[in-house]
Amino acid sequence: MTPNERPVAGGCLCGAIRFTVTLPTLFCGHCHCTMCRRNHGAAYVTWFAIPRSQLSVDRGLDQLTRYESSSHGSRSFCSRCGTSLFCVSTHYADIVDIPLANMDGSIDRSPEYHLYFDDRASWTMVGDDLPRRGGPSGLEPTT
Ligand SMILES: [Zn+2]
Ligand SMILES: [Zn+2]
Repeated sequence: MTPNERPVAGGCLCGAIRFTVTLPTLFCGHCHCTMCRRNHGAAYVTWFAIPRSQLSVDRGLDQLTRYESSSHGSRSFCSRCGTSLFCVSTHYADIVDIPLANMDGSIDRSPEYHLYFDDRASWTMVGDDLPRRGGPSGLEPTT
């Protein structure tokens, strides 16, 4: 195991579900889309992504409930405490998105950009200098 392959543990609020991510990650960004905001009850959600092979659920797999949030994506959450965890899309079948806030420690990168910035809540004030992506795909440069 090289230094950039270190494991980082994470879990849900109640602790029923525990998992381990093996670095390196693929990217990290703040998503302002309406589904993320509503699902997490948050102004926006900071996600990072890894290949699915680098995620292992160590405990509580039986508590993990999957919700089909769109025709191509699903979100899973802890049935006991409601914590939102993994997001997957058939468009990127080998990748899983994980909320950075659910990790016990730091990963290998900081958030790199805002996604779906055009869809942000009107009351969200962003003061950083990160690139802001939006447009119909949510991923296009806007600044
Ligand atoms: Zn839980
Ligand atoms: Zn989103």
